[in-house]
Parts: sequence; C-alpha cells; structure tokens
Amino acid sequence: MKIEMENTIDINIIQFRSLLLQWYQSEKRDLPWRRESASYEIWISEVMLQQTQVKKVQPYYLKFIRIFPNVYTLAKAQLDDVLKIWEGLGYYTRARNLHKAANYIVEHENGTVPTKYDKLLSIPGIGEYTAAAVASIAGNETHAVVDGNVIRVLSRLFQIEGPTQIAVTKQRLKELAERLLSRDYPGDYNQAMMELGALICTPRKPKCLLCPVVELCKAHRNLPDPSLLPVKKKRKEAPHHNIAVAILWDEGHIFITKREENGVLGGMWDFPGVMIGESETPQHALQKLLQEKYNLYAEATEFLVEIKHAFSHYKMTLQVFHCLYKSGEAPTNANSDWQWVKPEELKFFPFAAANKKIIQKLENDFVHT
Ligand code: SF4
Repeated sequence: MKIEMENTIDINIIQFRSLLLQWYQSEKRDLPWRRESASYEIWISEVMLQQTQVKKVQPYYLKFIRIFPNVYTLAKAQLDDVLKIWEGLGYYTRARNLHKAANYIVEHENGTVPTKYDKLLSIPGIGEYTAAAVASIAGNETHAVVDGNVIRVLSRLFQIEGPTQIAVTKQRLKELAERLLSRDYPGDYNQAMMELGALICTPRKPKCLLCPVVELCKAHRNLPDPSLLPVKKKRKEAPHHNIAVAILWDEGHIFITKREENGVLGGMWDFPGVMIGESETPQHALQKLLQEKYNLYAEATEFLVEIKHAFSHYKMTLQVFHCLYKSGEAPTNANSDWQWVKPEELKFFPFAAANKKIIQKLENDFVHT
C-alpha cells in the first residue's frame, strides 16, 4: 500500500509500520504506565506527559497514583490537594481539568474512564490528544495522536517545510498521522511514534543512523541537517514585566491569596503582587495594591529577594518586600480566598514555581527546624 500526496514522498505504509513497531518492541523504555492497561492510569499519564518530559513526569505519576489510585479518590479530593501534588509540574490547567473530569466520570460513567474516543471527547476537560491516546492505548481504537514528537517525525519523514503552526500544515500532518496509523496495533503505534521522537528523532542532532525508518526518510535523504525541520513561525520576543510582591506580616503570620480558578495558574496560592508602574517605587505599588484590592493598610519595609522567572509567553522579575500590617480587614467574596498563615504552614498550599523560590528564601530565614 502506498500513499502519494503533493510534495511528499511515496512511502510503503506497511513497511513503515512494521519497522516502527519492531523497533518499539525492542527499544521501548520500561515506564510505570506502560505496565498498566487500565484506562485511568493511561489517562493520568497521558495528561501529565503533555508538554512535559518523561523523566520529569515519572515521580509525579507514581505519587499521584499512590494518593489518588482511582477516579473516585481523585473526584473526592479537594482541588487544593490535587494542585499540591501537581506543584512544580507546570501547566496547572491540566490538574484542574483532571479533577473536573473525574467528577464528571463518577457522575455520568459509573467511575470508569471510558475507552471510546467519542465518549472521552464528550467529557469536560478531555481534548482530542488525550481522547486519541486513551482510546488507542486502552481501547485499541484507531485514532492517531499528534503531539510535538509526532509532528517532528512526520515533518522530517515527509520533508514538510510549511510552518507547523499554520492551519494547512496542521491539517496535512493530521491526515498523514491518521493514514500511517496501524489498524492492528494503534496503541503501540502511537506510543512508538512518540518514543521515536523522544529518543531518536530528537529536536537537535537526530540519531538518524539508529533510526528504524531512515531508509524512508526524505529529510535524511535531501537535507544537510534534518533538524532544520520542523519549521516554526518565529515568536515575538516575550514581554518582560516588573512585579512587586508583598510578604505581608502580622504577628508572625503571612497573608496569602488564592488565584481565581478560571485565570492563569487558577486555584494556586500566591503572595499579593502587582506590576510596577513607570515612575513608581515597588514599595509604593505594594502599599497601593494592599489598600485598594485587599483593604489592608501596610508599610513596605525591607527588601527580601529578587526572583527572575520565565513563562512560555512572558518573563518577569519579582521584587519581593516585607510589609508590615497596620490596619484593615480583607473582604471575603465568592471569587477570591485568602488566609493568614505561619511561614512553616506555607508548604501545605500549592504555589507556582516563582513563589516556591520566595518560600525557599522565607524558610531559610524564618523557619527553624
Ligand atoms: S532518519 Fe533521522 S530525521 Fe528521519 S525520521 Fe529518522 S531520526 Fe528523524
């Protein structure tokens, strides 16, 4: 069987699948979720693996499964506890979506993660990638996954030179992925493609001499360096924000706030922070923030630490100051939450990476064990 597409090579699909699957059987890594066939474990691992490397995911996966061994335990948990386990893994929307989906599955699917693609897609918080991965691996359904690894392998194999972010290229990659997919072993095939991208067809310096499909690869044949592909549209330079952060103290307690669930880092805990305006000092910006947003009167006293942190779309520098509470009481409303906690209690709340660095500094300075 051959496919012919504009600007692509002919490829013997049966040969391709066979070479790939044979390689996967002998070279695949022994990963904890590969010892499982249950849809719950496969679902959790696939969500964790999105935009995150296997090495980082493994300890998080093992801990998560130990604490939430099934859909019921996950659904029953407080979101704070789920976010706490997720702390440091990034992209926290994934944790919120898992929790939301677990509750839906308990209510509508008798607590069993479905293995049918359409059913999976109908669950709030489960998207195309996860549905294809779970349906193919746990349900043997023929749906191709298209993640960063698969995009890289296909772009090189077929020498696709259009930027991968544009719709026409995306569509082409999706079609190729579906047509190459093994009808007999879709789960193994999907995992094999991702494994090939992770181990052999790496972003830089692909190991073509070890590649099971080298003889079929157009980029290897035609380009001086296959890592020129895939082509990505240049991103605008990430903006940089200067942010003042308050460690607000009152009688040995620190004021922390919970972020709104629908926003960036939703559900995570935070120290009050604000962008520093032009011609404004960080101390002044903080006093204004505490007063206007939290109805708390305070004085910014001592500089604590400067933290630099980069997200995928922007960079920031945090200037962190100790502040002393004078008067006022923070309002309570449905969209926000706040607490006064002792420094040694901070570890019980989920904080994002930049705040963890502040907490580390506070622990060094104020928590004596
Ligand atoms: S031959 Fe090289 S570029 Fe082509 S798929 Fe294999 S590792 Fe990637």
